[in-house]
Amino acid sequence: MYLTFWGVRGSYPVPGAATVRYGGHTSCVELRSDRGKCLVIDAGTGLRGLGKKLAQEFRKPDGATYNLILSHVHWDHIQGLPFFEPAYIGDTKIVVHAPRAAAKELRQVIGGITRHEFFPVDLDAVPADFEFHEVVPGSAFEIDEFTVLPIGLNHPFGAVGYRVDADGSSMAYVSDTAPFDRMLHKQHFTAGIEEPSDEDREILKTMRANLVESLREVDTVIYDTHFTSEEYEQFPHWGHSTPEHALQICQEAGVRQLVLYHHAPAHDDDMMDRIAEKFGLLGKEANVVVCVAKEKMTLTMGEVTNPGIVA
Ligand SMILES: [Zn+2]
Ligand SMILES: [Zn+2]
Repeated sequence: MYLTFWGVRGSYPVPGAATVRYGGHTSCVELRSDRGKCLVIDAGTGLRGLGKKLAQEFRKPDGATYNLILSHVHWDHIQGLPFFEPAYIGDTKIVVHAPRAAAKELRQVIGGITRHEFFPVDLDAVPADFEFHEVVPGSAFEIDEFTVLPIGLNHPFGAVGYRVDADGSSMAYVSDTAPFDRMLHKQHFTAGIEEPSDEDREILKTMRANLVESLREVDTVIYDTHFTSEEYEQFPHWGHSTPEHALQICQEAGVRQLVLYHHAPAHDDDMMDRIAEKFGLLGKEANVVVCVAKEKMTLTMGEVTNPGIVA
């Protein structure tokens, strides 16, 4: 398997001179099996660039199916969807897999962002057929040669991570999540930190243990490290993690490589360089290869035997 980052930023896009090296687009990762099957992870503004590439690859007269797995439906993970070029090609099917959140039906949530007040083309009016599948933490499913395991995360209104196994290798996508210490995020808005009850602490403990177990021996883990530890102390109720927490989890799980991801909009290129250097060294001590996600960066998991293109 191999993957390419199309958006590495959290919260909102920040194009410009300060982010030109790491990139300003929000969350989107392209995952490919050795024979070229594509699985899209999250649909932030990075999805636009990936959609253009996929549309150029589109040649089959009998149509194509595109599978997107979403961590959750916060803006920075869905905002690229209306600009996904394959949606405007006839005879294509777009299957969106996501946890249920905020509204009863996923179609209602995704359809909501293309309501006429917000966007000129209604979801039902685009040439592609959309299908929506709900994912449930702990219930693995298959998409082509990918085995996908959703993992429950600690984020306001919920989010899921994914472990994906294919071609004898594995990767995982863990975004968005807070660490499992200061508070348990639930299905309601929190204006500040809510001290966890004893019951909450037990849930956090179980959630953390389950995450570590799900990441066991994974080759490459992409992890929400939005905050520095100082920033996290100020905003523990925002639902994001730090490189220190990500490294701890990956070390416990015996992960080979950790990729820092979902960068805060305010973290410019120079700051990302400093983070890369610091956690590269700390990773060596912890026996985990650590790098920082950059737009257009491609990583390989395991041996890629026959990289090809399949629409
Ligand atoms: Zn996010
Ligand atoms: Zn979020």
